[in-house]
Amino acid sequence: MIQVAVNGYGTIGKRVADAVAAQPDMEVLGVAKTRPNYEARGAVDRGYDLYAAIEDRADRFAEEGIEIAGLVDELVAGADVVVDACPSGVGEANLELYAEHGVPALLQGGEDADAVDVSFNARANYEAAEGADAVRVVSCNTTGLARLVAPLEEAYGIEKVRATLVRRGGDPAQSGRGPINDILPNPVELPSHHGPDVNTIFPDLAIDTLGLKVPATLMHMHSVNVTLEAEPAADEVRELLAGEDRLFLIDGSYDIDGSGALKEFALDAGRPRGDLWENGIWADSVSMEGHDLYLFQAIHQESDVVPENVDAIRAVLGAAGREESMRTTDEALGVGAL
Ligand code: NAD
Repeated sequence: MIQVAVNGYGTIGKRVADAVAAQPDMEVLGVAKTRPNYEARGAVDRGYDLYAAIEDRADRFAEEGIEIAGLVDELVAGADVVVDACPSGVGEANLELYAEHGVPALLQGGEDADAVDVSFNARANYEAAEGADAVRVVSCNTTGLARLVAPLEEAYGIEKVRATLVRRGGDPAQSGRGPINDILPNPVELPSHHGPDVNTIFPDLAIDTLGLKVPATLMHMHSVNVTLEAEPAADEVRELLAGEDRLFLIDGSYDIDGSGALKEFALDAGRPRGDLWENGIWADSVSMEGHDLYLFQAIHQESDVVPENVDAIRAVLGAAGREESMRTTDEALGVGAL
């Protein structure tokens, strides 16, 4: 069994830990946290060994009646791989610790691409991460775009991607984020960082991205236009996308009119935390005008990178090839089973 350490047990870290625990070939060696908050209690309740991420604050856990197994250094020393899900910038600073122990590390999308050997999306460039010391699982938005681009590029060739990203202001628990009652071009300048970020996965892809921020917490919404080299019918494109387990084609008959209903649907389907690991693509929005494909897709920022982290673990360790890893991950979680 692959022994996985999770350093940073917040929005992404706690989901990755649960996804790892669900896999047949890996287990959670332990998780590290800075503070004894409700998530720390949740980790212990789930049976994960809890480690203090900051030595000076280790006593606080005992003061709150939470037992810890040790310090993060000990956790890393015993691991085959570390998933670092600390806030942006902290992951890069932690690389030294992982290198000291010779343990490969996965960082998240908030880190700089330059900090790592490879930026990763399972569908698009799984093989590039094999044997790497430091890998960055790209952000939620870049993951959503990469999953869409990969099959379109293979099937039809792509001349240009233009995507407008309507981004949630913050995650549901981020009470300090905004805007509260506003719509922000964000950033005002073009391109937003997402296009160049997609280029860390597809270096030669022509892509322009624009970003906005809105007062919402549930999901991001992408309005996408892809100029294809071929001119397939919309039905053919729909069929292609429906064949991808990590793309969920939302049938019109479901009456899912937005991210609120989509989140409710995921909760009704019994998804943990109401997570939607797949891109949610409105089937009726998939349209062709000449060579131009148009569609809307919803991206659940808190969870779409979770299966990608699980695959990145197998990729860096050379534990399985792409198809086998993605299939194992998806079957264990129920990805593509909606
Ligand atoms: P978060 O704030 O929810 O969780 C981060 C956790 O790390 C918190 O529990 C925090 O206490 C802990 N932490 C802080 N400093 C630490 C340290 N030195 N050692 C160990 N733990 C420490 O953040 P998040 O939303 O999970 O984001 C984590 C990373 O994932 C970021 O790079 C972010 O850009 C990326 N990401 C976030 C989202 C999202 O929408 N939330 C989506 C995709 C990628």
